[in-house]
Amino acid sequence: MLLSTPNIKDLAAAELRLALTALGEPAYRASQIHQWLFSHHTRSFDDMTILSLALRKKLSANYAIDNASIQECIKEALDTTEMPTTKFLIRMPDGQAVESVIIPGRSRITACISSQIGCPLGCSFCATGRMGFIRNLSPGEIIDQITLLNAWLRNDYGNSRSITNIVFMGMGEPLLNTANVLDAIETLRNQSYSFSLPRRKISISTLGIIPEIDLLASLKPGTKLAVSLHAAIQEKRESIMPVARNYPLHDLRRTLASYIRLTGQPVTLVYMLIDGVNDAPEDAKALEKFAKGLFCKINLIDYNAIVNIKFKPVFTEKREFFIRFLVDSGLRVTVRKSHGASINAACGQLATERKGQIPEEPH
Ligand code: SF4
Repeated sequence: MLLSTPNIKDLAAAELRLALTALGEPAYRASQIHQWLFSHHTRSFDDMTILSLALRKKLSANYAIDNASIQECIKEALDTTEMPTTKFLIRMPDGQAVESVIIPGRSRITACISSQIGCPLGCSFCATGRMGFIRNLSPGEIIDQITLLNAWLRNDYGNSRSITNIVFMGMGEPLLNTANVLDAIETLRNQSYSFSLPRRKISISTLGIIPEIDLLASLKPGTKLAVSLHAAIQEKRESIMPVARNYPLHDLRRTLASYIRLTGQPVTLVYMLIDGVNDAPEDAKALEKFAKGLFCKINLIDYNAIVNIKFKPVFTEKREFFIRFLVDSGLRVTVRKSHGASINAACGQLATERKGQIPEEPH
């Protein structure tokens, strides 16, 4: 059920200026209101004492300040670092839930956040894909994930700790919700607010929605782009990612080459190794062929096993073979350690388990 009163946090600066003008108020109040929302994180119009009582009453009559909340958080039990990988189930104002994950690094704290509730793309290795699509997250709901994670960090690890990097790699395909994702990024990078994240610390991760990559190339939001390739042989890619039928690999490669040319920025090709699916020597050769000549790096990641989904992570030797083959081919390769094996950190696993929604494999 969608809430009937608009959430004021969903209004971008230009939209809020127009809304204020429509209420007969000066447009410059927009930046003051955003300060209260995104720096002071106020939960009530009554707290905005810099505004006149009359304006506060008008805002209350026309808008709500809807807030998400942390329903559950689970820390990685196997992680012995000071700050373990931690997964959050975040309840949105309408009762729907999404997942966000904090992944600490040596000099960074990365938040992996969601862009949709559920996902329409149905990748066969993914728990979120089994949920189906429920709805897009609004800009305010995307921002709320970071607000909540920052508050949790401050509370548990002290005032100096906050999110330094964001990856849109949680539930959903961000480039099927591009407008809201870009609106949220505008707020998250704004130096006037408490987040103040540089654009290059924000990464949009897509399955490869070609028209939207073209749109990013023209808008140049300054964020990083990661493409979940997971297979560089067309038939294999289609077998695990149905959307690949709409965006064939040769078209995707051409689009990425154009994106790189127009933005001057590299792309990351994310390749999740799945035992017996995309880990053969022919897969490594196909990946090399796809990546060669592109200004890119390849990020190899491990698959997190999911209950009722048949796929498994690869053995170390297979991973080593991939790394050696790609590096010997002159490609830039990073290997991302598997985070959160003990906290169901695979995308959508916690949310679906709490709803009892991971159906058995059909075959
Ligand atoms: S992997 Fe990403 S795009 Fe595919 S179903 Fe899961 S959430 Fe959607």
